[in-house]
Amino acid sequence: MEKPREMPQETPRLVDPFQRPVTYLRLSVTDRCDFRCTYCMAENMTFLPKKDLLTLEELDRICSAFITQGVEKLRITGGEPLVRRGIMDFFGAMSRHLESGALRELTLTTNGSQLHRFSDDLVAAGVKRVNVSLDTLNEEKFAKITRWGRLPQVLKGIDAAQKAGLRVKINAVAVKDFNQDELFDLVSWCAERDMDLTFIEVMPMGDMDEVARLGQYWPLTDLRAELAQHFTLTDLSDNTGGPARYIRVEETGQKIGLIQPLSHNFCESCNRVRMSCTGQFYTCLGHDGMSDLRGPLRASKDDDALIKAIHAAISRKPKGHDFDYSRQKVSGQTVRHMSHTGG
Ligand code: SAM
Ligand code: SF4
Repeated sequence: MEKPREMPQETPRLVDPFQRPVTYLRLSVTDRCDFRCTYCMAENMTFLPKKDLLTLEELDRICSAFITQGVEKLRITGGEPLVRRGIMDFFGAMSRHLESGALRELTLTTNGSQLHRFSDDLVAAGVKRVNVSLDTLNEEKFAKITRWGRLPQVLKGIDAAQKAGLRVKINAVAVKDFNQDELFDLVSWCAERDMDLTFIEVMPMGDMDEVARLGQYWPLTDLRAELAQHFTLTDLSDNTGGPARYIRVEETGQKIGLIQPLSHNFCESCNRVRMSCTGQFYTCLGHDGMSDLRGPLRASKDDDALIKAIHAAISRKPKGHDFDYSRQKVSGQTVRHMSHTGG
């Protein structure tokens, strides 16, 4: 049974200029990763100098400040969050906000490579669900798209997560001519293992060559049409405030999410904001504009300036992203990679 919330009545709310309450923070705890997925990073990525990273104590202070301002859901991401040294101490520290009832959900997005080591600790910290990114079930293709990743290690991680009692959702980026032929295999594999599945359209982030990026784009409208040839699909009206739209596969009872930043704009219900591991605060994934929270954080031991800076940034949250692949050109491209802000 869900715990009653013990938030004081007067909890301040973060509300943006379009009257969207901001209750969801995604925090990138590192820009580093043990994989080099082709749509996400260059193989020879230059990472941030370690000295620029916020310490785990500083990340704790920032997250706690957001929680006092009404953030109820915290997703830890990266880079690969589970390669950051000491990250389990951070999860352990965040669990106090779950216990107090101020935080409803603590979760993470991971490539799964370290889940065999950390699943039990995540459960102990109060994590109930994880998103694991997996685009293919073919070992060779997996090594090709992640460059440094190995499928058996990720499958071992997923096994460990399920054994520890974590609910697993698979996120698969839909990549043209790469995993198109695995659509039905992925769907049935997730159904067999009782895992939810969400497909994501490739977003134009980072400095990838335009032709290569357009070549990766498999619109989820096409993916849905393909599914509809084999299954009876029902559009669900769940509105989680998130970017995914959901369909139910009537034959299996499965729920499938579709994140379509390009072919279906989801901005009107966006309740989320993102923070990088250096304290850069982004109120929209699709805009390069950011606010620095590291300065106010370090300027003073109390959180007044930090909280003021958070409110000021939220008051500038843009209405939506400008990603567009129409007319065979990529527009709205952001300079930063997804691994910088966290997907
Ligand atoms: N390393 C972790 C992982 O892979 O799950 C967390 C960070 S990763 C940046 C978060 C999500 O962003 C992953 O599901 C990944 O597939 C997705 N992603 C990365 N680059 C993307 C892009 N250009 N377009 C769409 N999704 C992307
Ligand atoms: Fe690493 Fe995740 Fe980016 Fe792949 S998608 S390179 S696993 S951060």
